[in-house]
Amino acid sequence: MIDVSKLTIESAHEHLMKGDFTAVELTQAYLDIIAKKDSEIKAYREVFADALDQAKVADEIIKSGKATLLTGIPFAMKDNILIEGRIAGASSKILENYKASYDATVTAKLKKAGAVFLGRTNMDEFAMGSSTENSAYGATKNPIDPSRVPGGSSGGSAAAVAMNGALAALGTDTGGSIRQPASFCGTVGLKPTYGALSRHGLIAMGSSLDQPGPITKTVRDSEIIFEALKGKDRYDSTSMDSPFKNVPSKEKLIIGVPDFKRDGLDKDVLENFDVILKKLEGEGHILQKISLPNIDYSLAVYYILMPAEVSSNLARFDGVKYGAHASGKDLLDDYVLTRGQFFGKEVRRRIILGTYVLSTGYYDAYYGKARATQDLLKHDFSEAFKKVDVIATPTSPMPAFKAGEKTSDPLSMYLADIFTVTANLVGVPAISVPCGTADREGAKLPLGFQIMAPHFREDLLFQLGKVVEAVR
Ligand code: GLN
Repeated sequence: MIDVSKLTIESAHEHLMKGDFTAVELTQAYLDIIAKKDSEIKAYREVFADALDQAKVADEIIKSGKATLLTGIPFAMKDNILIEGRIAGASSKILENYKASYDATVTAKLKKAGAVFLGRTNMDEFAMGSSTENSAYGATKNPIDPSRVPGGSSGGSAAAVAMNGALAALGTDTGGSIRQPASFCGTVGLKPTYGALSRHGLIAMGSSLDQPGPITKTVRDSEIIFEALKGKDRYDSTSMDSPFKNVPSKEKLIIGVPDFKRDGLDKDVLENFDVILKKLEGEGHILQKISLPNIDYSLAVYYILMPAEVSSNLARFDGVKYGAHASGKDLLDDYVLTRGQFFGKEVRRRIILGTYVLSTGYYDAYYGKARATQDLLKHDFSEAFKKVDVIATPTSPMPAFKAGEKTSDPLSMYLADIFTVTANLVGVPAISVPCGTADREGAKLPLGFQIMAPHFREDLLFQLGKVVEAVR
């Protein structure tokens, strides 16, 4: 029996290379856990029937001496990342049974490295949500406490890793969808710099904000996957190689701590955040208070720009080009019926909101203002990064909340994103690292420490993230 609970990508790789176990045995170990736990947790939308066949191929690669660190590593893939020939549904009825006709670039890179895809994971429909309760196929539960949500929208991916139902997972992050579920489930979540990873083959939500990224057990695993997936891609004109080559390393970092509003935030989250800062200071890093004058507008700006992009990105789902179709008396009727019937409530809410903020007469008042404020935020960050190396905040204002607690109040759900949306608006990379727990009803709920760095300085996130792992 393989004890997968202790495995990391590096240690699994070593075992595979030494022949302690094969990729087939490793994959089987994960399939066994999925079979045991996933009827309750529901992290997966589908477990791939050919996972063991993929693992056999990985074993061949290992035998041939051409293995990479990712060869034979069992991955879970969010349901909005295309894998050729497999269903990619974005957990929406409108894409039920839609089969991808090509690989996303991140998929192709993982395939090339010899990774094994165990299955595709549940998510909030079209990645809209913070709890995975907006999936059209039922909610995912938090493996730490199944009465609670795993976060979202990549809740299935985070839960899969947290329950040891995958060694690593990919998610997507438009406003926090990798980092927030990672923090709720006690895993590491990385949103790379906008453009560091190709978006080609992701089902788009907000194209100027979306990034795919890893959810893992350790910061080192996150780094390994980031290194394997990054880089310019000719299929995504917004992707680019890092402009930094061999930046001199700096042992002690200056950590900027923004003076965010503390009222309304969970007491345990705040206490833990302060404790970790103190410990980082104890390690010789320097804390510096910074002001980000426009930070309080982040959430409002995000909830205008994101729906605007959603409304145009989702226009293609008309019942003709993709997925489900409902027939009415004429073409317009077909559109109305299809979109009314197969999009869930939250998706429709955002399409309507986005269409509104882009409409004549309201464009300047809403979309234009939000764009201008986004520029101010970018300016705040570039000023701050003249003084500090990284910026730290909690990942989420609260630990995992109860299932059903926020479903009837979209605004309270949106507030869960207060710390995460800014990195997407500014385009900088951000990581969430587990940093402690909060006791609730006998459960120890994980908390996340978020670190943001200047564009293409993921190296700083990994550097400080590893310190957080060591001191927490
Ligand atoms: N929770 C945020 C939202 O609902 C973020 C979603 C995401 O990053 N995909 O929009």
